[in-house]
Amino acid sequence: MSSVAENIKAIRAEIPETVKLIAVSKTKPAEAIVEAYQCGQKQFAENKVQELVAKYEKLPKDIEWHFIGHLQTNKVKYIAPFVHTIHSVESQKLLSVIDKEARKQNRSIHCLLQFYIAKEETKFGFSFDEAVEMLKSQEFTQFQNIIIAGVMGMATYTDDTDVILNEFKTLAGYFHELKNTFFLYSADFKELSMGMSGDYQIAIEAGSTMIRVGSSIFGERVYL
Ligand SMILES: *Cc1c(COP(=O)(O)O)cnc(C)c1O
Repeated sequence: MSSVAENIKAIRAEIPETVKLIAVSKTKPAEAIVEAYQCGQKQFAENKVQELVAKYEKLPKDIEWHFIGHLQTNKVKYIAPFVHTIHSVESQKLLSVIDKEARKQNRSIHCLLQFYIAKEETKFGFSFDEAVEMLKSQEFTQFQNIIIAGVMGMATYTDDTDVILNEFKTLAGYFHELKNTFFLYSADFKELSMGMSGDYQIAIEAGSTMIRVGSSIFGERVYL
């Protein structure tokens, strides 16, 4: 088995320099994160609030933490003091709570709008029309402590690469349409977070700027 450092090097060598590699460290111990950190990896993602807070407290403070899981509004306050980017914003309610909690901390939080693109009931996210409705709303114009940095989505879990490519292309289409309609003059709206261990090559082909890779870096996760 190859080491965390070797895996990161191999993935970095394979992807374009413009694509950001976010190391998904969920369920993995702090030691594994330190190993990745020591070879220059600074962006890590977690999907559970408690686990993210514990790792934040323990690990170097120049790590850029990303949140990628389903986020309950009553838990935003625990990560608002330090989280850099929340990939999984899937409602206006959640966005308004993130704005409020970020304001209390006197900081801004990058947010990605998560879209529902897969054929799986279990996945969360906006539909395109819902996102448009939110972006047009009066409330949205009042938000001051959030930075809408782009979009995120997860493809169907399948071996059919055509299905995956089509879903990623759909998300890329949403990104460009929102960019042209709402964010033409926003330099911040630039990220297309798509692609995981099993499908990041396809995501990059479809225009991904940010891949979220866990098991290909840290090995398979064991859920006890
Ligand atoms: C776990 C997870 C990943 C990483 O998955 P791997 O297949 O291990 O690369 C990426 N994105 C999200 C939202 C996840 O929950």
